[in-house]
Amino acid sequence: MKLGIPAIATGDMFRNISKKDSKFGQEIMKYIKNGELVPDAIVINVLRKRLSRDDCRRGFILDGYPRTIKQAKVLEGLAEINAIILLQVPEWIVIERLSSRRICRTCGEVYNIRFLRPKKKGTCDKCGGVLYQRIDDSPKVIGERLTIYEKNMEPLLAFYNGKVPFIKYSSNSIDTPPGVAVAEILQGLKKLKLS
Ligand SMILES: [Zn+2]
Repeated sequence: MKLGIPAIATGDMFRNISKKDSKFGQEIMKYIKNGELVPDAIVINVLRKRLSRDDCRRGFILDGYPRTIKQAKVLEGLAEINAIILLQVPEWIVIERLSSRRICRTCGEVYNIRFLRPKKKGTCDKCGGVLYQRIDDSPKVIGERLTIYEKNMEPLLAFYNGKVPFIKYSSNSIDTPPGVAVAEILQGLKKLKLS
């Protein structure tokens, strides 16, 4: 929100859909539970609808999309991509962070039982809601998610290489506060005259 444009996390969109007691919701839940990618046709459809909303007119940030070359090609037809923000973090940090993540069932606030603990164990500071662990944040599913992620990432980076400028941020420390990454990314955007 620092940039005044919406951040669209396709993962969050699908997690919300999966909670709905509908046939579509159940179908999506099946993929999430197994750490699998939601099929391209479904993702593209949902994203297309989201990007057509008014708040995207001045721009948007996509988080978790594209995950495949097909998705990237469709995106080219939907919008102009000005920059790619690439976060590079060693695998052990990703596993550590995801497996200790907890989320408020009521308001969606994100905590981390190692780095960002709630004041009262298992309870949201903001609304008093119950904290839970995402079904795909279990160590086994995280491992599967990372394997799929790496397999898909390589061709995607090759696809965008030379086409779209990259803003890279890498960290080898688990203790780096999120603000450090944000500051560096904002600076990268400024250099590209995007903020
Ligand atoms: Zn809450």
